[in-house]
Amino acid sequence: MSETRTKSRNAPAGASPFAVEAGALPAEKFSDPQVTAKGEPRASVPLTKLETLWLNTGTLCNLACASCYIESSPTNDALLYLSQAHAERFMNEARGMGTREIGLTGGEPFMNPDILAILSGALDRGFDVLVLTNAMKPMRRHEAALLALRAEAGDRLTLRVSLDHHTKTVHEAERGPRSWDAAMDGLRWLSVCGFSLAVAGRLLPGEGEGEAREAYAALFEAESIRVDAHDPARLVLFPEMDESKDIAEITTACWGILGKRPEDIMCATSRMVVHRKGEPSPRVVSCTLLPYAEGFDLGETLAEATEDIALNHPHCARFCVLGGASCSA
Ligand code: SF4
Ligand code: SF4
Repeated sequence: MSETRTKSRNAPAGASPFAVEAGALPAEKFSDPQVTAKGEPRASVPLTKLETLWLNTGTLCNLACASCYIESSPTNDALLYLSQAHAERFMNEARGMGTREIGLTGGEPFMNPDILAILSGALDRGFDVLVLTNAMKPMRRHEAALLALRAEAGDRLTLRVSLDHHTKTVHEAERGPRSWDAAMDGLRWLSVCGFSLAVAGRLLPGEGEGEAREAYAALFEAESIRVDAHDPARLVLFPEMDESKDIAEITTACWGILGKRPEDIMCATSRMVVHRKGEPSPRVVSCTLLPYAEGFDLGETLAEATEDIALNHPHCARFCVLGGASCSA
């Protein structure tokens, strides 16, 4: 496990349009799980209930987006394909903990050779299932199997498609040339076939959420895509992340100041399973955002992974507390 990963990907030429505008993060910040650089008590989040168990299916992806938080690409296998057997071990444990939902994220989940078995295993156990996908070729190879799963599970199976922006230009600046038309085609297929469908987008620096939702709504209308852009569960708009850029640390006093509650933060209700290359078996980490960070690896089983999470990473501040984002449905 390494604390910080170096970016080494076939990213589209040029900087990401979603780059965070801030100075460099001072080294003394986020260095002690108990206290901040100013010596104030650091905020932490207790697990209230494991509502959602995320399974990371592996980092390999057919794309190499400029600011992919998990640094996926066609060659990065830092997180191995999760096997059906490993997935089932964790799903069985989650069932005993009253978990409602299995989330599948990558990389591109449909590149994992066991993905259909994992999907069936989750649905057969009665979980709701949320799959994050770019809706491109890897997903389209499985059209017949997906239709069969949809016929059996109905709206218990949701696919959430990443469409980084409501314009082709910005989407392709982030995701690479020819990524827009394929994603739109995949979205239209899912919509026409009646899948429970959601879209994940991002806000450009300075772009207001209201205007972004209006623009997505116009796009979905024009393309006959059945997604309600005004429903935050159906169009999820994420804030930006960059762990190298400065951000305030979150203290115990911040909850009152910001009017936020620890129980609303993602790691209060979820965990993620990752299988890192070089490790004999999968591990449980605090959340989808921190597969590699030291201090956020919680053990080999879900039972071991119930401890409070100290918000000792820039993503905790920028994405979860100040940005207010949650990955779940
Ligand atoms: S499609 Fe998703 S997982 Fe793949 S590189 Fe882009 S952001 Fe990362
Ligand atoms: S980044 Fe992860 S560990 Fe940190 S607050 Fe968010 S969900 Fe919790």
